[in-house]
Amino acid sequence: MKLFDCNNCGQILYFENIQCENCGYTLGFDAEKMDLLTIHAVSEDTFQDILNPEQVYKYCYNEQYHACNWLIPADSETSFCKACTLNRTIPNLEVTGNLELWQRVERAKHRLVYTLLKLELPVSESETDPAFPLHFDFLCGTEEEHILTGHEDGLITLNVLEADKIVQEQTRAALGERYRTLIGHFRHETGHYYWMLLVQNNADVLAGFRNLFGDERADYQAALKTHYEKGREDFVSSKFISHYASAHPWEDWAETWAHYLHMLDTLETAYSYGLQLDPRTSFNKDFQDVHLKEDPFLTRSADELVRLWIPVTIMINSMNRSMGQPDVYPFVLSDQIAEKFSFIHRLCWSIYE
Ligand SMILES: [Zn+2]
Ligand SMILES: [Zn+2]
Ligand SMILES: [Zn+2]
Repeated sequence: MKLFDCNNCGQILYFENIQCENCGYTLGFDAEKMDLLTIHAVSEDTFQDILNPEQVYKYCYNEQYHACNWLIPADSETSFCKACTLNRTIPNLEVTGNLELWQRVERAKHRLVYTLLKLELPVSESETDPAFPLHFDFLCGTEEEHILTGHEDGLITLNVLEADKIVQEQTRAALGERYRTLIGHFRHETGHYYWMLLVQNNADVLAGFRNLFGDERADYQAALKTHYEKGREDFVSSKFISHYASAHPWEDWAETWAHYLHMLDTLETAYSYGLQLDPRTSFNKDFQDVHLKEDPFLTRSADELVRLWIPVTIMINSMNRSMGQPDVYPFVLSDQIAEKFSFIHRLCWSIYE
């Protein structure tokens, strides 16, 4: 994520901030400029950018629920921002607890949409395949009705109970996963979506995909059944980024896609802070020349991104361990996995040959 600062006082801001903690100015994200703007009210519901007073905005409709801080032009006919307009269903907010769960879901989803926009991937209905627009159903499972998180033809369904920390941790432990987060779900499920958009109808890309990830025509339901029956037996960690990735080529793709987005977003944060690593140890080749000098979204070489990513993950894991927290990135990247990252990177850059 990019680093934002208050245009009134210079305070460093988080993407989710709606008010500057230092000077109290109001803030809002403009997805056209991809920037968090410092604004002030000109009427009850319209705001001016303090740097460009001719630009007048209103908040997204979901701001009233503290579920969104994105801005849209004041004269826009729509009430929703680029991220919220993708919602088809949100949970019933009259049910106690749902508002807070949904707010957490939205925080993760807005970060996802930020990255998709940075990658210049088609997101809105007018840019994507009109037969399969990207949409979200945020549903709340019950004892009687279990909601499965998943993707089908552009519709991503997410069980908002995944935003409940206890449910999330129980599920993570039951499935033996190393990492389970809302942003991880979003990144994984959009992987399935962009596979449809970018891979399945392009013969050359599809051949390259099958070469690296395997043949997706293998029976999906049967593959999942075998995956759960077998457990971790026969799992080759140098081939797959996670155990689940080994279930079927589609899941390998979606898991690798999610990790590619994890890498880009985290490296952008490192770049925004001008991160440079120079560990006080004897020579370690992984840490040679680790200086985030270039915006990862503008970096052409996937190998260079992976080269920087490995030491950055070691450093952030160490920082977390210092605070008694689990590793942020409990994964090991082999050359074979890096090759899959490179395939996705080239595809996103549309320089696939
Ligand atoms: Zn300020
Ligand atoms: Zn919104
Ligand atoms: Zn999946």
